[in-house]
Amino acid sequence: MTGVLETGRRRLVGIVSTLAGFGLAAASAGSFLASPAIAESTLATVERRAWAMGTRLVVTVAADRRAIALGASEAAIRAVAEVEARLSTWTHDSELSRLNGAVPATAVALSPELEADLFEAVHWWRETGGAFDPGVASLVDVWNLRGRGRVPTATELETSLSASGIRFLVLEPGTARIERAGFGIDEGGFGKGVALRSAAAAALESGAGCVVLDFGGQISMDGSCAPAWIDIADPSDRHRGLARLKMGAESVATSGNSERGLSVEGVRYGHILDPRSGRPAADWGTVTVVAKDPVAADCLSTALLVMGPREGIEWLRGRPEIDAVFVERSEEEKITATAGLESRLEVSGERVELLPPAQPRTAAFSH
Ligand code: AMP
Ligand code: MG
Repeated sequence: MTGVLETGRRRLVGIVSTLAGFGLAAASAGSFLASPAIAESTLATVERRAWAMGTRLVVTVAADRRAIALGASEAAIRAVAEVEARLSTWTHDSELSRLNGAVPATAVALSPELEADLFEAVHWWRETGGAFDPGVASLVDVWNLRGRGRVPTATELETSLSASGIRFLVLEPGTARIERAGFGIDEGGFGKGVALRSAAAAALESGAGCVVLDFGGQISMDGSCAPAWIDIADPSDRHRGLARLKMGAESVATSGNSERGLSVEGVRYGHILDPRSGRPAADWGTVTVVAKDPVAADCLSTALLVMGPREGIEWLRGRPEIDAVFVERSEEEKITATAGLESRLEVSGERVELLPPAQPRTAAFSH
């Protein structure tokens, strides 16, 4: 988990981050809010870059003294490495890979951390009616989503769909067992969130005043950070910002296929699967989720992409703690956002439809 990364725009699917607010050089492109309060403060800032779980990590920490900021940034990177050692299925020796490789119907002892991760993933599977389903490893394999992509035959798809679904994981206190040969857990939809939460907690425990993390495009801010603006990019052109979102101490995750989609014989397929059909979810645009908890933001951006705007908007009703922005790809992008974002979402040119969480009402504004 080492390596220096290039600076500049680095969105996986849609957000251009601005690690800012405390007098940082705005190395990344995109909009930037220099908060006078912090920009003028004497906080020492450290920025570190690393590679983990198949994606990029940028850690920015501000603390009273540089030594504290350095220590806190190291603690954050160590915490991500621990989550990687536990959850990454990009390696064969993580705890999750070993569970995936276990003989079906045999109980496997779990570390308390993996047990908690799995219970949490199952929680979001239930909450989203199965749109988020971490038990899709057999489908990820059959579509070769980690490689160049391939279209499975009908029989292959049927076989791998029959081994897909987190229901084949039986969780008991301290142990888990897999009930179906060929079943596997894929951490792609929730691992970044787990790592972000753990890294932020480690940095704060080490004395960080503010920690900003960008992990493969999911951004989390924790501690007493000044608000920062991030851009929500056009799903068809990630270099074009469609909207700006003012972010506080919370996490923002975007799911979509604009960058990670695969092309097989000229047909585009996304890397997010609809667990019900076993096929890539419809490529309608991107969804950005804003939540206090990075794991919730991570799981829900994946789930809402699968649901699509209509079902997703229904799901969000009555869940005021979760905000989301749907950007539907069309000639004129359609942006739909939850009402909770009204005072901190700026849109250039396009119109936004705002959705109150409880009673639907339509308000449009433009800039
Ligand atoms: P994200 O970019 O956070 O939306 O996560 C997408 C990744 O999660 C994919 O690359 C797969 O590894 C995995 N995945 C795909 N479809 C699903 C799904 N329906 N539920 C949970 N994880 C998924
Ligand atoms: Mg996700």
